[in-house]
This record gives sequence, C-alpha cells and structure tokens, in this order.
Amino acid sequence: MKIEEMITAKRADCNGCEACANICPLNAIVMRRDAEGFAYPEIDNELCDQCGKCDEVCPALNFAATFPAELPKVFAAINPDDKARRHSTAGGVFSALSEIILHDGGVVFGAAFDEKFRVVHTCARNVDELANLRGSKYVQSQIGDVYRQVKDALQSTKVLFSGTPCQCAGLRAFLGEDNDNLLTVDIICHGVPSPAVWEEYIGALGYAHEVKHVNFAGKKMGWKVSHLEINFSDQGHYMRRINEDPYGNAFYGGLSERPSCYACKFKFPSVQSDLTVGDALGIQYIAPEMFDDKGTSLVLVHSAKGKTFFEQTQLKTREFKLSDIVLKNPRLITSTIADERRRKFFAEFFKYRYKLAVLQKYSEEDNAAARQAVSEQNQCNLIESYQAILDTWRKKLTRNILIVTPTLDDDARTFLGNYFAQSFPDCGLYLLQPESKGQLVCKEKISSFVFALKEDDATLTDFAKQFNITEIFADNMVKYDSPAVVEWINGCGLPVNVFSLKES
Ligand SMILES: Cc1cc2nc3c(=O)[nH]c(=O)nc-3n(C[C@H](O)[C@H](O)[C@H](O)COP(=O)(O)OP(=O)(O)OC[C@H]3O[C@@H](n4cnc5c(N)ncnc54)[C@H](O)[C@@H]3O)c2cc1C
Ligand code: SF4
Ligand code: SF4
Ligand code: SF4
Repeated sequence: MKIEEMITAKRADCNGCEACANICPLNAIVMRRDAEGFAYPEIDNELCDQCGKCDEVCPALNFAATFPAELPKVFAAINPDDKARRHSTAGGVFSALSEIILHDGGVVFGAAFDEKFRVVHTCARNVDELANLRGSKYVQSQIGDVYRQVKDALQSTKVLFSGTPCQCAGLRAFLGEDNDNLLTVDIICHGVPSPAVWEEYIGALGYAHEVKHVNFAGKKMGWKVSHLEINFSDQGHYMRRINEDPYGNAFYGGLSERPSCYACKFKFPSVQSDLTVGDALGIQYIAPEMFDDKGTSLVLVHSAKGKTFFEQTQLKTREFKLSDIVLKNPRLITSTIADERRRKFFAEFFKYRYKLAVLQKYSEEDNAAARQAVSEQNQCNLIESYQAILDTWRKKLTRNILIVTPTLDDDARTFLGNYFAQSFPDCGLYLLQPESKGQLVCKEKISSFVFALKEDDATLTDFAKQFNITEIFADNMVKYDSPAVVEWINGCGLPVNVFSLKES
C-alpha cells in the first residue's frame, strides 16, 4: 500500500508524524488540515517523480510490532530544581535531561507555543529558550521541517528530541539509523486533540482580552488536580480544573483526539525512544516519600544510551517494577476509547459559530453512566494488553521458577520477593500459596491476574506448562499444609529445591 491509498482507504492509520513530508526530496508533500482540523499529507503530482521515499519512511505503513529484550527499568523521579519542576507538567525530568544536552553545547527539540498559541515543534539552544518547551500542550504539534533540522544538528552536536511516540517513530524512520549523538524522549501519550479545535477555543477565550500565557497543567492548586491556566494582558486570569474545562473535558473524554490515537500502534512494548516520561500517577499510594503534590515523573529506561543520560541527572529517584505502575497509567500500553458522540461533535463544532457553546454543551451533556462503561472497558483493555505483554515476556524467559509457600503476611512476602528477585534476576518468578483463598498469585501480578486454583494434578500441570515453569522452590512447611500440592510437586518431573522461610 502507498501513502495516498492509506489516506483514502485507511485514513485513521496516519498519525500525522510528517516523516513523509520531511523526506520528500522534491518538497512535493504538504500537510493539509481536514474537516476535523488534523493535518494529513497531500502529494503534488506535478512535482512528484514517484521515487517512493515517502512510502518507505512512513512508520504507519511499515509498522512492525516490537518487543524489548528486557522489560524496562521504571523510576519515579523528581527534579530538585523547584522552579523547573513548578513549570513542568510532572516532576521536571524533561528539563533535567535537556540541561545536560544544553550544557554540552547541544540542541533540544520539543513542542512549544508560537506567538498565536498554536503548538509547533521547535528547538532550544540555551536554558532560557528551554522555558518555551516545558509543559504539556494538549494539542497535536506541527513538526514542520524539524526532522531535517535534527539531521543537520546531529552532524555537529548532541540532540535531544522529545515528542509523542509516533513523532519519535517518525524521526527514527526519517534518520534511518540510530545516532550516538541523539537522545529520544517520548511521552506517555493519551492522544492528541485537533489543533483547529484548540485554536478556535483559545481564539474565543482571547476574543476580548489578549492571551499572554497558557499552561495546560498548572499546579497552583497542586499537581493532582492540575488546572488549565490562562493569563490575559489586562491582568485577567482564567483557571479551571483541566477535566472540567470544556476543552480539557473533550480531550480527557475521548471526543477530540486524532483518529489514529484510538488505535495507537506506538505504545509500549513497541518502544520508539531511549526514554519514556509521564506522570507518576498514584505515586502517593506506592511511595509516599516521592509525593509532595508538586509533580512526580515516571521514567521508563529503554536503552543503554537512555540509562547513561538518566544517570547523569541529579534527580531524586526511586525504582519500581513495571507491574507497580502499569495499572495506574493506562495510556502507557492502551489507547483512549472514542466517545460515541465524536463524529457529531466535530460536525457541530465546525458548523456553528459559537464554538465555546458547542464545547460547553458536550461537556454538560457528559453522561456519567456512559463514562462508567468506558472506564470499565478501559480497565478490561488494560488488563488484556498487560497480560499479552507478560505472556510474550514469559515466552522469552528460559528459566521460570515456581515458589511454593504457606500463606505469607506482607512483610514475609516482601522479604521473599526481594530475596528471589536479587538471587535470580533474569528469571520469571511465580508465587503459589496453595491455601491462600484458593488462588494462585503471580509475582508480576495485576489485580485481576489471579488464577482459580483447584489443587489437582491437571490444574497444576496446565499452569506449569502455560508459564513454562522450569523448576520449583518449595517451603518445607507446605508438606504440612498442602499434601495434595506436595504430591504433585514430587511427581511433576521438575527439579525441586526445598527451603525454609522460618529459619532464614
Ligand atoms: C498530548 C499529551 C498527552 C499526554 N498524556 C499523558 C498520559 O496519559 N499519561 C502520562 O503519564 N503522561 C501524559 N503526558 C505527558 C505528561 O503530561 C508530561 O508531559 C510528561 O510527564 C513530561 O513531564 P516533565 O515534567 O518531565 O516535563 P515537561 O516539561 O512537562 O514536558 C514537556 C515535554 O513534553 C513535550 N510535549 C509537550 N506537549 C507536546 C505535544 N503536544 N506533542 C508532543 N510533545 C509534547 C515537550 O516537547 C517536552 O518534551 C501527555 C502529554 C501530552 C503532551
Ligand atoms: S514519491 Fe518521492 S517525490 Fe513523490 S511525494 Fe513521495 S518522496 Fe516525494
Ligand atoms: S509518514 Fe506520518 S504523516 Fe506521512 S502518511 Fe505516514 S503516518 Fe501519515
Ligand atoms: S496516541 Fe499514538 S498516534 Fe496518537 S499522538 Fe500519541 S503516539 Fe501518536
């Protein structure tokens, strides 16, 4: 398939990354906005000489799902520079990484507002210019010729490129090969709303007063309840909780995103970058010492290069397992679900003159029962996707250990988990507590990832096959509590090691 056919027949596949427009040697591609305000490539057939470079570079046309060799290291992180963190959406990791590049004489590319508050990719060459790139802009940013600029800059200096996963995929495809001088940082991506909807919205808000400053995730009331903050030149001020603001509500509710965002291919595990950054949502429950309501980042380290840069920062960090955070931040692995009113919303938004009224109407009409159904569907998609990731990961492991113990209290479980994780770092670890509510509990566990356990041979044998169990570590006490399981262990043919948690 070629780009032109994709745009006609499978338009929702095009994520608008602009790699095609950047690669075209004859500048025969322009990105033109459609009826919803999203940009798609348009080829000028008078100029095009059919070289095929645009089809070869397109990350959507050439997409092949990937899986990392290892699950990434995951950190919560806080930038000790309070000012940088205050103006960042999460914990200010992007700023800390950027400063390393800038102090080395390098260039940082990311999304910024232009003078009309349109969102465009641009670059910063010093710490002052970095201020424009800080903070999330909940709008699809225009790449322009930035991939070409990155390529030029890489010839003489270090470059940090940050953007959505599909933009990082676009840049990688455009460059064709990795470059030691390039650090790519993508965001956990909920999806991107239509630039035209944003431009109409800010135009309407700024109709009577000139807009001076916009912050989509202002922290004046705290990071947990971030607010859209707009300052006007006459000292006026607009501040509303982002999910209650009509524009923010459309974004969070799945009404205004690009069609490709509802079936995004570029999420984990199809990693597009050296590092992924996001909000460490729910960190107050997992690690209260990393929560002060001023913003905490989540960082996933995907490559050796990413690790080197991350270790150079002076961030306060704490490491987690992927399973600790994945349920709290669904957009890392699953797409937003479209609101069923989406088509009608776009038709009305561009038909009627009073844009604010249309956005307000959809925000007010918002139906709690429908939201609940979407939230449940979200949860199902999330669990399914995570199980698929774990299944793939397990298949790659050659050593999977089943640890069998009596029911443990929290302290004993933590002790045991840490002990096995340190002693067998490259193994899959599963914990079987036979008499614990009749459930089999797995180390990489997510809330519904529990198996009903009948203590019969067939169930246990099926389990061992499904999870490719290669050996068993059994606590000595199991023989008193669960003779049926012990019988299975003795007959299953797998190597068995006996230990005693009480003595250790
Ligand atoms: C549209 C969008 C959706 C997001 N959805 C989630 C989510 O579901 N879960 C989550 O944990 N985090 C999400 N984030 C990321 C999060 O909001 C923070 O941007 C991220 O955690 C980085 O925070 P920071 O404090 O390190 O730095 P910040 O200074 O806040 O980060 C700014 C970085 O984000 C990039 N950026 C900002 N706006 C855009 C844009 N429109 N397009 C491309 N890049 C942009 C900039 O280039 C810069 O690198 C989203 C961000 C955006 C822009
Ligand atoms: S085929 Fe070649 S010349 Fe034609 S639009 Fe694509 S890249 Fe440009
Ligand atoms: S390269 Fe990007 S913008 Fe161009 S067709 Fe492919 S997905 Fe769309
Ligand atoms: S959700 Fe996916 S397709 Fe949409 S902007 Fe983010 S990375 Fe791109």
